[in-house]
Amino acid sequence: MGQLMGFLNIEKKNQHERQPVERIKDWNEYRENLPDQDVQKQAARCMDCGTPYCQIGMILNRGTSGCPIHNLIPEWNDLVYRGLWKEAYERLSKTNNFPEFTGRACPAPCEGSCTSGFVSDPVSIKTIERKIIDKAFDEGWVVPKPPLRRSGKKIAVIGSGPAGLACADQLNKIGHEVTVFERSDRPGGLLMYGIPSMKIEKDVVDRRVSLLEQEGIIFETNVEIGKNRSYEELKTAFDAVVLCTGSGKHREVVLEGRTLKGIAPAMDYLTASNRHLLYDEPLQADYDAKGKRVIVIGGGDTGEDCVATAIRQGCKSVVQFGKHGKLPAQRAESNPWPEHPNVFSVDYAYEEAETLFGKDPRAYYVQTRRFLGDQEGHVTGLVTGSFKEDNDAAEKTWDADLVLIAIGFQGAEDSIFDAFGVERDSSGRVIAANALDYQTSEPGVFAAGDARRGSSLIVWAIEEGRRAAASVNLYLDKKEALSQK
Ligand SMILES: Cc1cc2nc3c(=O)[nH]c(=O)nc-3n(C[C@H](O)[C@H](O)[C@H](O)COP(=O)(O)OP(=O)(O)OC[C@H]3O[C@@H](n4cnc5c(N)ncnc54)[C@H](O)[C@@H]3O)c2cc1C
Ligand code: SF4
Repeated sequence: MGQLMGFLNIEKKNQHERQPVERIKDWNEYRENLPDQDVQKQAARCMDCGTPYCQIGMILNRGTSGCPIHNLIPEWNDLVYRGLWKEAYERLSKTNNFPEFTGRACPAPCEGSCTSGFVSDPVSIKTIERKIIDKAFDEGWVVPKPPLRRSGKKIAVIGSGPAGLACADQLNKIGHEVTVFERSDRPGGLLMYGIPSMKIEKDVVDRRVSLLEQEGIIFETNVEIGKNRSYEELKTAFDAVVLCTGSGKHREVVLEGRTLKGIAPAMDYLTASNRHLLYDEPLQADYDAKGKRVIVIGGGDTGEDCVATAIRQGCKSVVQFGKHGKLPAQRAESNPWPEHPNVFSVDYAYEEAETLFGKDPRAYYVQTRRFLGDQEGHVTGLVTGSFKEDNDAAEKTWDADLVLIAIGFQGAEDSIFDAFGVERDSSGRVIAANALDYQTSEPGVFAAGDARRGSSLIVWAIEEGRRAAASVNLYLDKKEALSQK
């Protein structure tokens, strides 16, 4: 346990955030680790309460409460408090394959349900997690550990996002031979091409992929299953297949003027920006916000990442439309602890927009009704109403040179169902509904991550990848046992 009464006597501190005026000049991570002693002090705030709600990892009132991978938080907090960093790293590694991703970009549902948060500020769990893993890399404690024996079983994992990487890692550790197929030119899924480098720098992803390769996992990039290679081919070459293909079918707006130039899906925009930075590829004019008035349709995290990207590209102005109202400053009575707190916050992109333009870019209850364009077929603006009062008199016209659509995803892409013959549910997700076995309607085919769950979080993708791996292993054991009868 940390320091007696630590949670009352020590002030909560999170990772250091670089000043907005400085960080918008580059594409580096906006958060930085605190010094060792500061993190040890933060760990001292953990009281090792009898029931660590921070670990529960369950859905309460449609939100995530506690850590979905059940990180052993009070245990590693205590080790950090006592300066036993290596032991803390070993404890963290038992449940989390990639703390360097979650320590940077997890929304930390653990903190929302931390017992200390009931009466005071929660423990800075994410800050401590990131420090442990970054220190472990710096000290050289994270080294490849290939399995000592191989089972002779071959598994194909399709997709290399956090779900695919976690699943491959777990199966490889057991000794199975794992090949990860990825249609992009680089592994990482949304960690590589969706999430901007301000949240996760790309060498952090490359470093982990390189470790997995050294441990024996084979990565085949630029291979789209269903296009370059068929499922039939995989069926004969592998003992099991795991679909970790994400939730890539983006939701569209079907409105007058949608085909105008200068209106783009958020994911195309973010991917183009990440590619431009990684390869110095020229940025297509339609994906360059420089000097433009930008409007982002969609009030979620993807929209927020578009705001931060447009700011770094040098946009003239930026507004983000949300469908819902502003969240309350404090938990509503209907949203008690240990549920995830649905409260107003000023996240990184909004702080940057305020610094640059003097106001929060968020507009609430905005319903886009039609797009306006010029004679060259380029967008010039849009007309909105309100989700609150559906009243034509309340229509408003906004000027825009670039409009980004970030209104969410509709499940796995159609090509996955065509290629693998698996069934889908009414939300477009691959049915592998029994969270105990992760099996699809096709024998020997499993699904995990956003493809099965719908668009979610890195930490849920890791959890699903781990559980699907355990289920594949059980399936192979049973198959083996039956073949010996
Ligand atoms: C812009 C954005 C920002 C986000 N920010 C955060 C954040 O800050 N924190 C957080 O926790 N979560 C965040 N998320 C959500 C998080 O990234 C996802 O929940 C997570 O990446 C899902 O992991 P996954 O492995 O299931 O799928 P993905 O990461 O989507 O990976 C799927 C992979 O499968 C590949 N693939 C698809 N079909 C095929 C095929 N037929 N053959 C071969 N390969 C194929 C794709 O190319 C892709 O690489 C964000 C999402 C977006 C879009
Ligand atoms: S993975 Fe996320 S929920 Fe779990 S301990 Fe880390 S920050 Fe908290």
